[in-house]
Order: sequence, then C-alpha cells, then structure tokens
Amino acid sequence: MMASVPKINVDRLWSDIISLGEITDPALPYTRRSFSPLFDEGRAMLSRRMAEAGLTVRVDAAGNLIGRRDGRLENAPAIAMGSHSDTVPAGGRFDGIAGVVAAIEVACAIAESGHQTSHPIEVIDFLAEEPSTFGLSCIGSRGMASQLDGAMLAMIDGEGRVLADALRAVGGEPDSIATAGRNDLAAFLELHIEQGPVLENKNIPIGVVSSIVGIRRIEIEFEGMPAHAGTAPMNLRQDAGYAGALTNVAVRQHAEAFSAREDRYFVATTGIMLLHPGGSNVVPGRCKLVIDVRSSDAALIEEFTEILDRESLFSADLAKVRRISMKLLSDGVPAHCDQRIRSCIRDSAVSLGCPALDIASGAGHDAAFIATICPVGMIFIPCLRGMSHTPDEYSTADELGTGAAVMLEAVLRLDAMLIP
Ligand SMILES: [Zn+2]
Repeated sequence: MMASVPKINVDRLWSDIISLGEITDPALPYTRRSFSPLFDEGRAMLSRRMAEAGLTVRVDAAGNLIGRRDGRLENAPAIAMGSHSDTVPAGGRFDGIAGVVAAIEVACAIAESGHQTSHPIEVIDFLAEEPSTFGLSCIGSRGMASQLDGAMLAMIDGEGRVLADALRAVGGEPDSIATAGRNDLAAFLELHIEQGPVLENKNIPIGVVSSIVGIRRIEIEFEGMPAHAGTAPMNLRQDAGYAGALTNVAVRQHAEAFSAREDRYFVATTGIMLLHPGGSNVVPGRCKLVIDVRSSDAALIEEFTEILDRESLFSADLAKVRRISMKLLSDGVPAHCDQRIRSCIRDSAVSLGCPALDIASGAGHDAAFIATICPVGMIFIPCLRGMSHTPDEYSTADELGTGAAVMLEAVLRLDAMLIP
C-alpha cells in the first residue's frame, strides 16, 4: 500500500474528549480522580482507543498506561507523547485529557496513512498528575524519571490506603519501581490547554512552551498576644495578624517588581492567611501564611525567598510580635523545554499556517519530570477565558484539532531529524 500523508480527524478527536468527559462522578462533573473506579473506567476506554490506533498497550511499574508502535529502525529511542487523564474534584474535560487524546489521534493518523516512522512512537497516560488523595502529584512521571522513592510509596491517604497498594491496583509494580525508569526516549511532547488567558487574548492558536516554572511553597508563622479588641490600646498590641498583613503586602510588591524583569516568568501568591483565634473582637495572637512562589528561573526564587525572610522579620518587628517559623513546604526546580524541539514545534506551526507564541508555563506538568530524562517540548492551545480546574474549562474542536495537527507535524519532523 502507498503511504498517504497522515491527517488528523477532528471529529474523532472531539468524540474521544466528549466520551471521556462522560466518565465522571454524575454528582460532581467533571470528576475522575486517580485511584478511583471511574479512573479505571476512563483508562479502559483509553486502552481500547490506543489498541484501535494500532498501539501495543501495557501498564508500567509506575502505573503509567503506555501504547507503543515500533519503528522501522531496531533499537531506536522512542518519540513519546502524552499527558494525564485524572482530574481534580469538579475539574474540566480538557486539562491533561486533551494531551492524551491528541496523542492517540496522532498515532491513529500515522497508522491510517500507512506511514512507517523510523523511531518507535509512544502514547503515555501518566498516572495521577493532579495531587492525589496521597497528597502527591505527578506520580507516574516521577516514576518514569526514577524519582518515585520508597518514602513516597509508603504514603498513606485519608482512607488508610498505602500508595504502593493503590499502585498495584492500577497494574503498577511498586516492588520493581526501578523498571519504570526510562533511558530510551528520544523526545517527549505534551499538548496541554494553556490554563491561562494569554493565547486567547492575543488570538494565537499555538503556544510554544519555553519553560515550566519551579514552584516553592513557604510557610511563615507569627506569634503575638491575643487581646480584647475593645480594651487593648493600639500602642500596646502584639497583633500577629498585622505582621501577616504587612508580609502579604511585601509579597505582592516584590512579586510585581520581580515580574517586571524581562524574559523571566515570576509570580508569587499568599494563598493562605489564617488568623487565630479568629474572633471579630479579638486581636489575633497567631497568624500563619502560606506563600506560593513560581518562576522559570531558580535564582529568582532563591532571591525572593531571601527578601521574604527579611521582610517577614521586619513585619514582626513593626507589629511587636515574633516570627516563630519560616519553613519550606515543597520545592520544585524549573524545567526548560529543549531548543531544538521548540524550533521544531514553531516550524511545524508555521508550515501549517498557524501563528505561534513563545510562552512560559506557570503551572506544573508531567513534562517537567520527563525533562530530567530526555529533551521535551510542550504545545499549548487556547482555552476559554483561561479557565481551568472548573467544569467550565473549554477549548473548541478546532483549537484541539489545530494543536493535534501541529503535534503530528512535529512528530514527523522529529522522526526525520533525530536519526539521519
Ligand atoms: Zn494538566
């Protein structure tokens, strides 16, 4: 049979999105939490679709669902594509799912055309990208990057389940977790909705991701003296809430200055501010803040942390309270997309007549872990008003189809490029 040019079938892609969206907790659309029966149901559908795309399907030791089609060249490293099919509670139908379904469609289009790639092609549905009931995110991609350790596998969730057992239940093998680690990937591509408003506002169909932010979460706690809101004179108060508020303002002001620096993405948010005892007529005796700091540049995160250290001590002084702790809750380093893959995605978009924009990802993704084992690239598509992690999350069939077409073109170009 003569091979034809592989072509994305937008109707098929859209119908997969809708069908997967129907596998949801009916009381809380769209919910398909990892390690739940609904998640297994979604995966059953995905494995069937992978098989129909001519892929050989397996689950690796870290619980990733992987479909693979061998290439023409023996022992060549694989070109992989993928994302995740789990959702947050009351999430959307596109976050993660768009990348998995588009990857299956790309594999399907290649198979239908009779085109034989040089490299093996893989489609991956990573296990539990969203924070699971165990509190851990990116479980599958950590496993593939050999970063899922024994302490993580021993984590226990609210129902008393051990992660290792939950992993076994989805077909993983915690006792031989090392076998999930890969060193045979030539490239990894992840298509994802932007989860922000930039592409929609600029009316650009394709985002070429430059880097995925590192995320540091810092907890700060102040201790003062609770007092009667009516009788404690202002000059004698030890108001821990005041110290928290001053720190919150400092976070905002410094973050604005940092974000104005060119070419480097930076945001910081005081997302939690708890006052204790929390009475309308009580001067707060304690205040706890959690600050989320994100940047494409690890040095900026470090510099901001030092400023936060000084500013919070200064705030405590002004409020006549003590800063009793400042601790790191979590810390992830930024990941950079490969220059060659970025150019390949941009060239692919241009060849299809699609404007493309370089963009940093302010959200974490599986690709950040995979970037530690092979060159990665990410393709963003616009989503309605930048909304994500809500049932209103939406991208059109056309937007998805364009993203998938660019990913298909990029895979074919990489396949021709990587092995001369
Ligand atoms: Zn996602």
